[in-house]
Amino acid sequence: MTVVYVNGEFVPKEEAKVSVYDHGFLYGDGVFEGIRAYAGRIFRLEEHIDRLYDSAKAIWLEIPISKEEMMEVCAETCRRNELKDAYIRLVVSRGTGDLGLDPRKCPKATVVCIADKIALYPEEFYQKGLKAATAATRKNYGEVLPPQVKTCNYLPNIMAKIESIVAGAQECFCMSREGYLTEGSGDNVFLVKNGVVKTPHPAAGILIGVTRNAVIELAKKLGYPVEETFLTRYDVYTADEAFVTGTAAEMVAVVEVDGRKIGNGKPGPVTEKLREEFRKLVTSEGYPIYK
Ligand code: PMP
Repeated sequence: MTVVYVNGEFVPKEEAKVSVYDHGFLYGDGVFEGIRAYAGRIFRLEEHIDRLYDSAKAIWLEIPISKEEMMEVCAETCRRNELKDAYIRLVVSRGTGDLGLDPRKCPKATVVCIADKIALYPEEFYQKGLKAATAATRKNYGEVLPPQVKTCNYLPNIMAKIESIVAGAQECFCMSREGYLTEGSGDNVFLVKNGVVKTPHPAAGILIGVTRNAVIELAKKLGYPVEETFLTRYDVYTADEAFVTGTAAEMVAVVEVDGRKIGNGKPGPVTEKLREEFRKLVTSEGYPIYK
């Protein structure tokens, strides 16, 4: 039986509920994290927790438990569900309030932790790669909602995702207001051109992905030059290889964008090498679930 952590208690999945007056539900007022455990260890848990608390701080949200307690909540949720490999979803919303949007009416944040399995795409896409489409919906910009903040407000991402599906692709590439490549719906984007690994600069407006950071480290270790830079649609179409990274998606090649084949239309050698090293990395470190 799957159990879910809700405000300090573990309850069966079917009984895991929050109020319809919760401002997370009414207004998307909250923050969240997606984290993965591999072979009994939670990958880069501290980095995810730091990002969660930074996101909360940015939206004036006080998380009622400490970072250490939050890390244990993640581990305990895996233990209670007897999971060694899991996708962990932490959600901290403003909490239950009234129908107005004043957060002062929400005395206590809601904290939820779910540990379950996730498969974003059928296995064939991990082998053959995804098709992506650039979306008309632009990336949110910092003056409205900083892309570094992982808020519960994912509507632009969802609309961009729908656009890509309507266009016959599986994932979207979102551009900034200025026309630079930013990220996918729930993942960061990488390109490879002439042996150089390129990814949008944080200033282009992206979530600083934990997977992105790990892949940059791996690429440098393998001796590939890495550039965090400003990339255009032209750079995407003319890349030798492209791939996306994210906790849920992990690493997936992108083999076609807006109807143009990327490279020869197959996952490229740098992508494959990084995927192999990424798999080794995630199974070799992390916060132990079972001590
Ligand atoms: N960008 C967005 C918009 C995301 O939602 C995610 C998933 N958290 C990512 C990038 C990738 O981040 P990470 O590697 O930390 O999961």
